[in-house]
Amino acid sequence: MLYTSTRDKSVKVSSAQAIAQGISKDGGLFVPESIPAIDSSFIDSLVGKSYIERAEKVLSLYLTDYTPEEIRACVSGAYAPGKFSSEKIAPVKTIAAGENILELWRGPTCAFKDMALQLLPYLLTTAAKKTVADKTIVILVATSGDTGKAALEGFKDVPGTKIMVFYPNDGVSPMQKLQMTTQAGENVSVCAIHGNFDDAQNGVKKIFTDRAVAEKLEENGMMFSSANSINWGRLVPQIVYYISAYCDLIEQGIIKNGDEINVVVPTGNFGNILAAYYAKRMGLPVKKLICASNANNVLTDFLKTGVYDRNRKFYTTTSPSMDILISSNLERLLFHLCGENDATIREWMGALSAEGKYEISQSVKEQITALFDAGCCDDARTAETIAETYQKGYLLDTHTAVAVKVYEDYCQNTGDSTQTVIASTANPYKFSAAVLGAVCDGVPEGTDEFSQVELLRSKTGVECPEQLATLKGKQPRFTDCCHKEDMVDMVYRMLGI
Ligand SMILES: *Cc1c(COP(=O)(O)O)cnc(C)c1O
Repeated sequence: MLYTSTRDKSVKVSSAQAIAQGISKDGGLFVPESIPAIDSSFIDSLVGKSYIERAEKVLSLYLTDYTPEEIRACVSGAYAPGKFSSEKIAPVKTIAAGENILELWRGPTCAFKDMALQLLPYLLTTAAKKTVADKTIVILVATSGDTGKAALEGFKDVPGTKIMVFYPNDGVSPMQKLQMTTQAGENVSVCAIHGNFDDAQNGVKKIFTDRAVAEKLEENGMMFSSANSINWGRLVPQIVYYISAYCDLIEQGIIKNGDEINVVVPTGNFGNILAAYYAKRMGLPVKKLICASNANNVLTDFLKTGVYDRNRKFYTTTSPSMDILISSNLERLLFHLCGENDATIREWMGALSAEGKYEISQSVKEQITALFDAGCCDDARTAETIAETYQKGYLLDTHTAVAVKVYEDYCQNTGDSTQTVIASTANPYKFSAAVLGAVCDGVPEGTDEFSQVELLRSKTGVECPEQLATLKGKQPRFTDCCHKEDMVDMVYRMLGI
C-alpha cells in the first residue's frame, strides 16, 4: 500500500517513508491511497485475543512495507507488560445502559496520547533503518499539554533520535507542565512559548517546511520528523483501539458481531476521531461519529454548517488539550470526502491560512452530515457532568466529561439508544483542580496542586497514579520561555548547530 499527500497526488511513498518524513514537502498530510477492508470474520478472529495481537493484525493492513516480524517487535515493545496499568491496555467500562467508557489513559503519562506515542518511536526507528539509515531524527512537537509529555516519554534515550517540545506557557495544567519540565533523558528538550497552542503548532509547521532549516539539518546529518498527529505513525495505532473496543463489547456480551455502535470523541486536533472514521471506513459497524468540543467549538459549527471559521475568540478552558482552533487532521477527512482532489484541498487550506476561513462543497457537506454528529460543552456544564457522573460511581477527567455531556445531549435530541463507546482521554488527576472543584463545589483557597491531589483522593477514594504523585517536590529541568519568532533559534541551540 502506498501513501500520497493531501496537497499533491503525484506524491507516492511507502508507509515507512510517510512515517519517517512526518509531513509531505508540499505541506500536505500523508494518507493511504486506499483504505483496507475488514469484515465480521476479521473481527471474529480478534475476539478473545490480546491487545498486542489485535494491534499486530490491524497494523499489518496499513504498514505493508514492514515485515510481520518488525510489526510484532514494534507492538510487543510498545505495549509490553508493566507499561500500562491495565493488562487489557485499553479497557472498556460500562457506566450506564448503552454508555461504555474506553479508557485510553492507562499508559505511562496518563493520557490517551500514550496509545500512539509508545508505539511511534518503534515505528519511526524501524522506518528510518529502511529509508534514511544513518541520519539523526529530530522530533519537533507542538503540544497543548499531553502530546508533549507522551512524546518525551516515548522518545527519551531512543538511539538516533532527539526530541524538542514547545508548549504554550499559560495553556497547560500545572500537572502537565511539571510532567514536561521534569522530563529525564539525554536527548530531550522542552521550551515554553508566549502564545497559545495554535501559535506553537504554526511555528512548528513553519519550521518543518522551511527549506533553509532543512538544509542546515541535512548538513549536520539530521532530519526532522513529527510526533504530532499530522504523522501517519500517530494515527494508525489509534485505529486499533476502536476495533479492540468493539471486540471487547462482544466479549462482554453487550453487542453481537455485526451490531452497530456509536463512537464519541472529545476532539481537538481531530486525530482521535479521524482514527474512528478510518475504522468505520474499513468496515467496523459504526453508526455515528460524535465529535465533542469544549467552548472552542469551531468543529461543532463546521460539522453543522460546512463553514470552517477560525476567526473567533480563543478560550482557555478546563479541558486544555482541546483548546484548539485549527484542527489539522480535518484535512485528511476532507481529502477522502472530496474525491481525493488535491486541488480542492489546496484551495481550502490556502483560504484557511490566508483568511482563517473556508466553505466546503455541498457534496462533502452531505457526507459529513451522514457520518457525524457534533456538540459542545462549556466549563460549567463540564463540571456539572463530572459531579453527576461521580454520583453514579465513575470519576471523569474534564475532557472525557465534555464527551459524556455531548453524548447525553445527543441521546436527548435523537432518542438513539445504540450502544456507544466514549473515548476517555485522560486520568482525572492530570486536571485535579477542575475535577476537585466539580466534585466538591469549588477548590479551597490557597491550596497547591498536590494538596488538591490529596483532597481529591480523600474525597473520592480514587488513587492518584504513581507517576503523577511522585512529581511532588521535583525540580524542573527546563525553564526556557521564548517568543514564537525565536523558535528556530531555540531548535538550533538545542541541536548544537
Ligand atoms: C489530545 C487530547 C485530546 C484531543 O485529541 P485530538 O486527537 O487532538 O482530537 C482530547 N483529550 C485529551 C486528554 C488529549 O490529550
